[in-house]
Amino acid sequence: MIIVMKTGATRVDIDRVVAKVEARGLKTHLSEGEDRTVIGVIGHDPFSIKDAFTHDESVQDVLRVTRPYKLSSREWRRSDTVIKLDGGIAVGGAAVVVMAGPCSVEGEAMLLETAQAVRNAGGHILRGGAFKPRTSPYSFQGLGREGLQYLAAARELTGLPVITEVMTPSEVDGVSEVADIVQIGTRNMQNFDLLRECGRQPKPVLLKRGLSSTIEEWLLSAEYILSQGNYQVMLCERGIRTFETAMRNTLDIGAIPLLKELSHLPVVVDPSHATGKWSLVAASARAAVAAGADAVMIEVHPRPDEALSDGPQSLTPDNFAVVMGELRRVAEAVGRRVAEGVAAGAAG
Ligand code: PEP
Ligand code: MN
Repeated sequence: MIIVMKTGATRVDIDRVVAKVEARGLKTHLSEGEDRTVIGVIGHDPFSIKDAFTHDESVQDVLRVTRPYKLSSREWRRSDTVIKLDGGIAVGGAAVVVMAGPCSVEGEAMLLETAQAVRNAGGHILRGGAFKPRTSPYSFQGLGREGLQYLAAARELTGLPVITEVMTPSEVDGVSEVADIVQIGTRNMQNFDLLRECGRQPKPVLLKRGLSSTIEEWLLSAEYILSQGNYQVMLCERGIRTFETAMRNTLDIGAIPLLKELSHLPVVVDPSHATGKWSLVAASARAAVAAGADAVMIEVHPRPDEALSDGPQSLTPDNFAVVMGELRRVAEAVGRRVAEGVAAGAAG
């Protein structure tokens, strides 16, 4: 259920309503928009509050949220969620943001080299996996905690915030300490313990779509994070498994405008894992921005032929710079813009 407060309801009014709901053993989540405050009510029997506020003059309406996911729905929060990061970067606002970097952090020198290339091309956030979810146990598994230290060094050098994946609940605190955005990979979209743990730490979370997950399952996974009190969640479409095997996955472009209708959360698109082939990345990234994505995440490697993971889908720094220019033009064509690069003057 949601309780919609009247415009002009005071803090005292809101506190009174919250206290009354919580006294019934239900949980509340506040969405304080510019024009109205909405109180989300979560619990086993939220319907019992339906009649409790008919005489409260600060309450405009008590409504049932029709979707199974609540806090991730547009009904709970009408305005877009904007996630603010260091360096004045915001995901979900007017400007499109570009995250880029290697699939895996392979060492310090290669990461610093890639980070500088990403920054020089105007990229905003550095990606790089330290804990790698590999299909085969014999493939490179990532540098783990050592990789996190290199990410911190790359941020120090370039001023770029960093995003990196966490695979297990026990590593959440360690990853969260270093990362500016914590990534949950496609294979863990329904690792409910991991989702809950990420909901209890303070950093924004990028939640990738499970490789065979429906939009509803995805939004319910986001709900696990939000329901723990972390409302800074972005959804990342990275291709789904279909009958088509010509590409690594099938990029679900329609998911972008659909998510925008159903949810207030920012939408990110990863054209690298969606296609698996570097020559298809630029067109897919352009399509994502044209369809309304708030950010794209692109794999970039200084020498893709030598990459320890996902070389075939990685762009060279030169190709990445070309894509940045294309994305600027597409964003302008659809009435948006690509965000300014990290402030000139930072070291590097
Ligand atoms: C990644 O982005 O590093 C990754 C492993 O992607 P996905 O979870 O989408 O396969
Ligand atoms: Mn990868």
